[in-house]
Amino acid sequence: MYEYFFDRCGKLVHRQQNRYTMKIELFASKEPLEITEEDLDQDHRREMDRLLAEMAKQDPRKLMAEVYCCYTLDLCPSCRETVFERLEQGELLRHV
Ligand SMILES: [Zn+2]
Repeated sequence: MYEYFFDRCGKLVHRQQNRYTMKIELFASKEPLEITEEDLDQDHRREMDRLLAEMAKQDPRKLMAEVYCCYTLDLCPSCRETVFERLEQGELLRHV
């Protein structure tokens, strides 16, 4: 028999217990593509080589995470309430 634990508090998940799923996606925003004459005049081969050389020096996992990452958490009712209140209070928002 498998046992499951809530992701935030680590408490054991009991059968028939209310559970909540929180899914967070963090990904690079799309910028509108604007191609200029200058872009077309670039040496694309050289630029690609430069970018690949630059990427080769970096951590592949970190590079992937910069583009997209997703977290899916199982929350108990108490943790759901805590997370909800913190979000409602603007914890992740700009403080003025
Ligand atoms: Zn919990």
